[in-house]
Amino acid sequence: MQENMIIAAQQASAQASLSWQQQLSQAIRDPLALCQRLGLSDHWLPGARAGGQLFEICVPEAYLARIAANAPNDPLLRQVLPVSDETLTPQGYVTDPLEEAEHRPAKGLIHKYAGRVLLIASPNCAINCRYCFRRHFPYSDNSPSRAQWQEALDYLRADTTLHEAILSGGDPLAANDRQLAWLVEQLESIPHLKRLRLHTRLPVVIPDRVDDALLGWLAGTRLQKVVVLHINHANEIDQAVVDACSRLKQAGATLLNQSVLLRRVNDSVDTLATLSERLFDAGILPYYLHVLDPVQGAAHFDVSDDEARELVTQLREHLPGFLMPRLVREIPGQGSKTPL
Ligand SMILES: *Cc1c(COP(=O)(O)O)cnc(C)c1O
Ligand code: SF4
Repeated sequence: MQENMIIAAQQASAQASLSWQQQLSQAIRDPLALCQRLGLSDHWLPGARAGGQLFEICVPEAYLARIAANAPNDPLLRQVLPVSDETLTPQGYVTDPLEEAEHRPAKGLIHKYAGRVLLIASPNCAINCRYCFRRHFPYSDNSPSRAQWQEALDYLRADTTLHEAILSGGDPLAANDRQLAWLVEQLESIPHLKRLRLHTRLPVVIPDRVDDALLGWLAGTRLQKVVVLHINHANEIDQAVVDACSRLKQAGATLLNQSVLLRRVNDSVDTLATLSERLFDAGILPYYLHVLDPVQGAAHFDVSDDEARELVTQLREHLPGFLMPRLVREIPGQGSKTPL
């Protein structure tokens, strides 16, 4: 334990001088390395290997540093460590739960809801979350180059009912700032677009991602800016994350958070209440609490609808209304997220 903490401290200081790209390229992707780094017993290795074959492990050091050593039930560890349950194939858990393949009018563009479209700005993420619906998704087919964006941009220009462009992924901030600055410049030249929204986990996973290059294009655009972070547990919010959030706010962004309700990660009233409080301390408002998408390999994270409703009912007795996330599910074919 002691030794592990010393290693963690050394690793953290070694990371301090690295760019976010270097931190990402040095992320742990190997089951054995992950178990050793966290002092986990060999018991976890076969599961980590089996799950990791289905969906690669990816955890950067900045995130690992927030995980306790030798603690298999750590709520952050459960989000990143593959386990043998991932190989199960229970009925109803599928590979494309959102049926997004049907809503792609142009390469890299998903238009399901009125007034807003989603642009797949990067196929990559800085972390591989075990519960993610994209664990089976062929994202490499959907990350357009500059020339290929023209079709999506033409679509946006032609539809004057669109007011908001949402950069998504993968994680849009896994793209480099030159590309993102170019894309945002294209978007802001479309007169009927008012808002730019980013759905990203990168400022949480590698807070150094929020650097001057990012802040430059973000602060510089005429578009109103909303950044929807993805944080599931209060332990994910350390001082570096708080600082990254305050830089985003200084650049003019409104900060919101979405979480996924996950078995043995955040499925208790206390955990959810603490999360909301800690979010607000960091200048972030809770937005959505999603129930799990029924994706193959993630059934062990499922919380039943009844239990989810009961949790949220109790949570309301602990929190002011503005710290209550909306409990929703995504149902294919619906024109919005569906409240539970
Ligand atoms: C979730 C989602 C949005 C955004 O929905 P909001 O309710 O505005 O947050 C937009 N497009 C797609 C395809 C989505 O899945
Ligand atoms: S899309 Fe979001 S939830 Fe899925 S792996 Fe990437 S960061 Fe995690």
